[in-house]
Amino acid sequence: MKAAAFDYIKATSVDQVIALLGEHGDDARVLAGGQTLMATLNMRLSEPTVVIDITGLSSMRGIEVREQSLRIGALTTHTQIEDSELVRRHAPLLSDAAPHIAHRAIRNSGTWGGSIAYADPAAEWPACLLALGGTVVVRGPQGERHIPGDDFYTGLYSTALRPDEIVTACDLPLASPHQWHGMAQLARRHGDYAIVGLAASAQRQGNALSNVRLAFMGVATTPWRARRTEQLLQGKVPDAATRDQAVATLREEIDPLPDLTNTPDTKRHLAGVLLQRLLASAHA
Ligand SMILES: Cc1cc2nc3c(=O)[nH]c(=O)nc-3n(C[C@H](O)[C@H](O)[C@H](O)COP(=O)(O)OP(=O)(O)OC[C@H]3O[C@@H](n4cnc5c(N)ncnc54)[C@H](O)[C@@H]3O)c2cc1C
Repeated sequence: MKAAAFDYIKATSVDQVIALLGEHGDDARVLAGGQTLMATLNMRLSEPTVVIDITGLSSMRGIEVREQSLRIGALTTHTQIEDSELVRRHAPLLSDAAPHIAHRAIRNSGTWGGSIAYADPAAEWPACLLALGGTVVVRGPQGERHIPGDDFYTGLYSTALRPDEIVTACDLPLASPHQWHGMAQLARRHGDYAIVGLAASAQRQGNALSNVRLAFMGVATTPWRARRTEQLLQGKVPDAATRDQAVATLREEIDPLPDLTNTPDTKRHLAGVLLQRLLASAHA
């Protein structure tokens, strides 16, 4: 199958993109790495009349430290994040998560902003954004808005982004020397989307954990935080007894959606397995 006919515009500025989105509304789609959009066009799941190529906007590319945060430009590729020393130092959860995204060839083109904006509930970057307490930077006709990751995802493939806005970057808090992080997932084959995945972070106070954030992928219509389990773990040492309590609390609070091959009960079980593994690594 081939894509339906559309006009192609190579944008030269962010302002131009916003003006074009204002003009064409839902008939327009932004093209970043194309690793998701091209497939949806070719399968005619999406039939925009205008495709706006943003890959030439260098102001939206790159990784830099800004005061207390690490800024990742929307057009930064998964590979650039995977290979970045700055990311390894300041947001190491992303370094551990990147190899789980598809395969290197896809990571060479796919972008941070494309993944954040597309809002696939099984994708790695949205879950990492929530686990780290990051903020999404968006630009629209009224200027810039900073949306906490926790408020960004509103439903299946839906975000707080307005039709005439684009994601330009995200800001992630710099990892402190006491930060612990973990990434675990179960997929049928390496590179597949996770059946269930977990991105986690916490601060260590001695052997105890505080500010625990547990963001699951593949269990709900959006990346999902296990807030009751997070609460239970605050101030606790993740020893065997606490881990068992945390897994029991998680299995009570989680209400996973099935997918084509896995039932909610399977996913509930797998989520507990992942939590048990990550907390054991935190204890070790
Ligand atoms: C075989 C395969 C396996 C994959 N496996 C995984 C996986 O395991 N985990 C995973 O996370 N991902 C996976 N992906 C998806 C991949 O990570 C994509 O790169 C990513 O989801 C989209 O990024 P993109 O830059 O390619 O976006 P595009 O395909 O260009 O765009 C995707 C959507 O986001 C919109 N968009 C893009 N950039 C912006 C922006 N800056 N602001 C607003 N809207 C924007 C587009 O309009 C479009 O609707 C896989 C893809 C393939 C083809």
